[in-house]
Amino acid sequence: MYTVDAGKRKGCQISKDLLISQRSFNDLLDESVKIHGHLCPGQVLGVRLSMLGLDKIGIYDPKGADRKKLIVYVEIDRCATDAIQSVTGCSPGKRSLKLMDYGKMAATFVNLGTDRSIRVLSREDSKQRAKNYFPEIEDKYKCQLEAYKVMPDEELFECREVKVKVPVEDMPGRPGRRIACDTCGEFVQDSRDITIDGKVVCKACAHGGYYDVL
Ligand SMILES: [Zn+2]
Ligand SMILES: [Zn+2]
Repeated sequence: MYTVDAGKRKGCQISKDLLISQRSFNDLLDESVKIHGHLCPGQVLGVRLSMLGLDKIGIYDPKGADRKKLIVYVEIDRCATDAIQSVTGCSPGKRSLKLMDYGKMAATFVNLGTDRSIRVLSREDSKQRAKNYFPEIEDKYKCQLEAYKVMPDEELFECREVKVKVPVEDMPGRPGRRIACDTCGEFVQDSRDITIDGKVVCKACAHGGYYDVL
């Protein structure tokens, strides 16, 4: 994906398709920046990563006709996560965006209609390569931000076909099982309860929670 300017710099012939995709990239980036609150390299990468992932699994209308066919697993909880949410329309509340907190700049796009899944990983060397595109920009983040807009997909990402079995209790739709924890009495839904020594307990009672009651 090249901007008209970048294309001219390189003397490339800009095709009509590229111009159209560039226009939609700009629109998607604008929308994502509005939601996220600022323009940053993570927004550019997240938008491009999402466009690529959706294209690879054959989802072209993620917020419309295809919205029920799509689940995205996101492996990082940083800037790019908001961009992925913005472009795909998937969200935790709709159960269509699953946050797998691996701390990796990667996401997997699942087409429930075709069962095709693609994991897109951001390449580590893209930061280094960014400098080749705009050597005149001294600020590292500004350089990355501009370069990520024009670098080809192959220099930014690695794509792998993967198999994802989405557990039935993780699927969008009506809530499943709802049961009281034998220890704290609080209700747990969607089979997030655990059975230990014949007792049904919530995750907080089973493993210790993230909070301490004062
Ligand atoms: Zn950001
Ligand atoms: Zn409990």
